[in-house]
Amino acid sequence: MSAKPRYIILLGPPASGKGTQAARLREILGLPHVASGDLFRENLKNETPLGRRAKEYMDRGELVPDDVTIAMVMERLSQPDCAGGALLDGFPRTIAQAQALDRALAERGQQVGAVPYIAVPDDVLVERVSGRRLCRLCGASYHVRFNPPQQPGRCDHDGGKLYQRDDDLPETVRTRLQVYWEQTSPLIDYYRQQGVLVTVNGDQSIDAVTTDLREALGRP
Ligand code: ADP
Ligand code: ADP
Repeated sequence: MSAKPRYIILLGPPASGKGTQAARLREILGLPHVASGDLFRENLKNETPLGRRAKEYMDRGELVPDDVTIAMVMERLSQPDCAGGALLDGFPRTIAQAQALDRALAERGQQVGAVPYIAVPDDVLVERVSGRRLCRLCGASYHVRFNPPQQPGRCDHDGGKLYQRDDDLPETVRTRLQVYWEQTSPLIDYYRQQGVLVTVNGDQSIDAVTTDLREALGRP
């Protein structure tokens, strides 16, 4: 692994802290944050055909089909700001997506540089999901207990109203965790075999996780 890999994938179960950490690492690394869930939610908000198609899967806590997801993320990665690298969050989530990403990067003479895996036990994840609140304007992630905003219900960055995601309900979360273990966790071995996986303990304070991620990425 090179000292400062440019294509970085934050791997981890739902609510492990990928978005929270990506918001910090994006500043530190100077890389764009590419979150597939955010891209889907943007499409939902704008009521695009893609958003309408994705909604039924998201509401059930299932994965959106690979072809749709891969096309959407590749389109984002082909934009000029991603030419020097990107911080990927929530993508890839299947082996097919990981292979598509490898192929697309290889075509540009690039490769995945590092895959920090944020490990968190399932019972902690359920508690994190139930208190998660997002900013309607910028998508920043808060938690009513673990990471509350300065002013209740309002984003610290832009004052946007905070809301709870439709899919952050206890029933849907159980499906999402099952989907994660069945379809996404095989990526842990996939990237371990590529020699780019580095496991970080996500069951500690947000600051401590950031410190460990920086360490894992060669102390940027
Ligand atoms: P979380 O933050 O809980 O991990 P995300 O915001 O990443 O959730 O994703 C929300 C939903 O969007 C997922 O449950 C899934 O339906 C869809 N989604 C996001 N990324 C992908 C992906 N890479 N492949 C398939 N579906 C995805
Ligand atoms: P992901 O993007 O992996 O789905 P988020 O970054 O949205 O996860 O975090 C999920 C929830 O857990 C949010 O409410 C967030 O504020 C909270 N959270 C994130 N990291 C931690 C942590 N280390 N300790 C406690 N709560 C956390």
